[in-house]
Amino acid sequence: MTKRAVFPGSFDPITLGHVDIIKRALPLFDEIIIAIGVNAQKKYMFSLEERKHFIETAFNEYESVQVKTYTGLTADFCKAENAQFILRGLRNTADFTYEQTIAQANAKVMDVESLFLLASPAVSYISSSIVRDIARNGGDYSALVPFSI
Ligand code: ADP
Repeated sequence: MTKRAVFPGSFDPITLGHVDIIKRALPLFDEIIIAIGVNAQKKYMFSLEERKHFIETAFNEYESVQVKTYTGLTADFCKAENAQFILRGLRNTADFTYEQTIAQANAKVMDVESLFLLASPAVSYISSSIVRDIARNGGDYSALVPFSI
């Protein structure tokens, strides 16, 4: 059976923290789908096209990595894609607390297992929201992202 994981997120924008998790997960799965969640209620800084383009550029040499978009429940998207696993990164206890109940509910209700990798210390402080803050104020965030600005 193909071991397929979905790495879901807003990726507004993708950062070196996301890249680190995905690259470290490559040996664990046959395929990884980077899944950009689209929520009509949410306001994004980068357009869906930009977010997708940044990710595709970062991973265009990786044959086992695909980039897709989805709406609705992540677990439903996993079912539709025949993915048995949700991949997530954990930076701190706040991430853990947020993820715990979602992962437990997904396992119980949807039969989708979640796998977590701890953030690498070198990038554990990076978040898309810090990048957006710097961008909003005209700063240089190029050291935090895998694309050139
Ligand atoms: P969401 O809006 O679902 O939190 P994000 O795009 O912010 O989506 O993050 C997607 C995933 O990447 C989450 O599991 C998040 O914890 C993880 N992640 C984000 N930044 C980092 C980082 N610096 N190191 C490790 N994991 C990270």
